[in-house]
Amino acid sequence: MRVAAICAAVDANVRSEMPANSFYYRDVTTCSGGLILGIESSCDETAAAVVGRGTAILSNVVASQIPLHSPYGGVVPELASREHLRNILPVVRTALAEAGATYRDLDAIAVTEGPGLAGALLVGISFAKSLAYALDKALIAVNHLEGHIHAVLLEEARHNSDAGQEASEGPGPMLALVVSGGHTHLYLAHVQAGAWTYRNVGRTVDDAAGEAFDKVAKLLGLGYPGGPWIDALAPHGNPEAVPFTFSQIKAKVHRKGEPGALDPSESIYFSFSGIKTAMLRYTQVHEMGASIEARRLALAELPDPKPADTLPLCDKRTLDLIASFQRSVVDDLRRKTFRAAERFHAERLLVSGGVAANRELRVRFTAEAGERDLPIAFPLMSLATDNAAMIAAAAWPKLVAHEFADESLTAEPSLALGTSLQAAARAKPAARGR
Ligand code: ADP
Ligand code: MG
Repeated sequence: MRVAAICAAVDANVRSEMPANSFYYRDVTTCSGGLILGIESSCDETAAAVVGRGTAILSNVVASQIPLHSPYGGVVPELASREHLRNILPVVRTALAEAGATYRDLDAIAVTEGPGLAGALLVGISFAKSLAYALDKALIAVNHLEGHIHAVLLEEARHNSDAGQEASEGPGPMLALVVSGGHTHLYLAHVQAGAWTYRNVGRTVDDAAGEAFDKVAKLLGLGYPGGPWIDALAPHGNPEAVPFTFSQIKAKVHRKGEPGALDPSESIYFSFSGIKTAMLRYTQVHEMGASIEARRLALAELPDPKPADTLPLCDKRTLDLIASFQRSVVDDLRRKTFRAAERFHAERLLVSGGVAANRELRVRFTAEAGERDLPIAFPLMSLATDNAAMIAAAAWPKLVAHEFADESLTAEPSLALGTSLQAAARAKPAARGR
């Protein structure tokens, strides 16, 4: 009902802007600004952005739901869907206003198709479909993970244009680590004549790295989401105080034979559930429960607690534990990512997703890339976590290739990106993108 009401509101708003005899020319490569309105609602951010020709960010608006989910220490799907419904229209309107654009100026509307929360995705998709239908604009479906990869490319494009260079389109593959609250995936990405293909060569077998940051922060009585809190506190502790070991995931078995399974002999696996349990055990053995509870209560008293407020509430043991946790996770991500880069002869490394905002991760990845003479790129801090500029950027090659979605577009909560190693070996040449 509420989606229908919002769609009607959009429709009325859009029609008031449409010329009487509307006709929208779609050959964006030759005659227009290539303006794409991106919409993202896969998890806990309602976001809209206007991006020109896949590289020029004219606006990037994000309505975060952090305060809403904070008391629960994680995203509550039903609350997220309702909040997206409330936010989507004002967020889109603000994105257009900040870009100085009207609905009429757009060449396409791009929206996250998946993966993500079904109800949350549906809000963005229903909205984008109604808008595209009412405006007679192209509708483009984008994989959220591809969006994260393009967040890095947006930053590279900005650098290149500042330096007067064209975007790089080398023959060799790029290795992309997408590491967020929902994903820890490695992809080999190729671009040829503007068309992108992806091969999944690594993933977590249980929790995502960002999820481990969030759960560990919750365990220690810190705020939500946990990544920024741990990032801020870790430099105050000794990262070598508590040695954590990561189990090596055996090739066996992991979903061997399942459609989309990775090639066990070549793939890289992550696992972050063990370190969560080790952290819990450490707090129990060292009887940290009372100090954790005291910290939780002290933070609950503050109207808008920030990581800096927690420093006086953490003793040395806690700070050492936080620093050791972060060092272990970052080093596990670093070791396996560079192993994959070597194994698959990657010529560039792209690191994206919310955890790519982590300062220690950026420092340690950059140092190792420097030693190996491997170019590495991260997104702008503001584009590391979920946003819609990355969705509009990933949509640009699809607009040029006329890869449009139709009215059957719906939420794909478990949407995969690209092919797996096994599938790629079976089907030569490799299948296209999504
Ligand atoms: P999701 O789709 O999972 O919401 P985002 O790209 O929005 O993904 O990333 C959110 C995740 O990133 C959360 O798990 C959060 O804790 C983590 N994160 C954000 N900033 C940092 C940081 N500075 N260090 C580590 N993790 C971070
Ligand atoms: Mg998010």
